[in-house]
Amino acid sequence: MLVQSSLSEVLKAREELYSRTNWTDHTSQLQNRVKGEDLSLYFVLTESEIIGIKETIRLHVSTTPYYLSLSSPDDPNCPIRKMIVPRSEEAVLSSEESSDPLDEERLSPVRGLTHMYPNRVLLFSNHSCSVYCRHCMRGRKVSSNEERMEKGDLEKAFEYIRNHPEIEDVVISGGDPLNLADARIEWILSELNSIPHVKICRLGTRNPVTLPFRITEALCKIIETYNNDKLSIFCNTQFNHPKECTKESKEAILRLLKAGVSVGNQSVLLKDINDDEETMLSLHKKLLEMRVRAYYLYDPELIPGSRGFRTPLARGIEIVEYMRGKIGGMGIPQFVNDLPGGGGKITIAPNWYLGYIPKTRQHVFRSAVTKKIHLSFEPVDSTKESYYPVLSEADLEKLGL
Ligand SMILES: *Cc1c(COP(=O)(O)O)cnc(C)c1O
Ligand code: SF4
Repeated sequence: MLVQSSLSEVLKAREELYSRTNWTDHTSQLQNRVKGEDLSLYFVLTESEIIGIKETIRLHVSTTPYYLSLSSPDDPNCPIRKMIVPRSEEAVLSSEESSDPLDEERLSPVRGLTHMYPNRVLLFSNHSCSVYCRHCMRGRKVSSNEERMEKGDLEKAFEYIRNHPEIEDVVISGGDPLNLADARIEWILSELNSIPHVKICRLGTRNPVTLPFRITEALCKIIETYNNDKLSIFCNTQFNHPKECTKESKEAILRLLKAGVSVGNQSVLLKDINDDEETMLSLHKKLLEMRVRAYYLYDPELIPGSRGFRTPLARGIEIVEYMRGKIGGMGIPQFVNDLPGGGGKITIAPNWYLGYIPKTRQHVFRSAVTKKIHLSFEPVDSTKESYYPVLSEADLEKLGL
């Protein structure tokens, strides 16, 4: 039942929840998850959040006590809170939105598998997560019981991979594969390991962020066993805000690294949560301190109810442009747009290259450091001159050249 709590009631309820949770035990964290209208016990809710909780139909609402503890009980602008608590915008659907904007279902030859790129597939391993992120682009699958992947479904997916020798790289995502039991994870990894042409396995998981205690020694042992000469295991996680970079998260990442797993980050660009230069820079600096390399920065998908999260396309480009020069290259994500309708991912980079001057064989660049124009030369024997956009006299004049 939805209640309206005062700040002192909320603080008391939080304290009680934290003390009855066996904090570092991931099963206790999951048992004590806060779901649906019970969120009202742990936040002083705004009108918009009350509507959001009442009218959200798209996705489960749930958070671990750990992730809840990172959020503000009384500040509705808290970035962590915005990823946990639905707001009224989430219940507003627009005609340009779709529950499957990437056409993953059409590109699915067997249940739970998307085969879009020749050499890699996306495997949907399960439909549960530790925290249901409001911006999740797999809302149609995550938290729906009809999407439950049975052992038989996974067997059919492995059969498909086995019969397609061009598949070298299997991205396991969900839901969250690390919300499966250890035994099921072990079985999945052993199946993949037994397929000769599968060289790479990637685990897409938000548990290092939302439930770091899930990354247990026992789990890492299993992963390490299959991280061998034949199979290389990578992990891509999703930190979206510097507040998520905690000591607990760092310890979880270090356990993965010890198991030989390379950890990368794919953050999602989210309006009023992380869509400013300094927040993104600080997030990626903290990630490097946790030895996590930047991988992607996603432009949010056009999923139903996503208007509260979407930013203009330019924002992502501006942020990546700002970061260049201020942090090592391994801390700068590639800004990607997963094209609607099954077009796959493309990267959009800041425009550092301004064009070519054929007369002098010169390239014109904009520097990220000096902010000035810098020139360099094309080789004398180049056969690629027609590749470059030619700068007109007017362009050159504008650039002061
Ligand atoms: C994102 C994605 C992949 C992996 O893409 P990378 O650019 O290699 O990380 C593979 N298959 C599908 C369907 C995807 O959406
Ligand atoms: S953890 Fe990933 S799949 Fe699960 S709700 Fe969050 S974004 Fe979606």
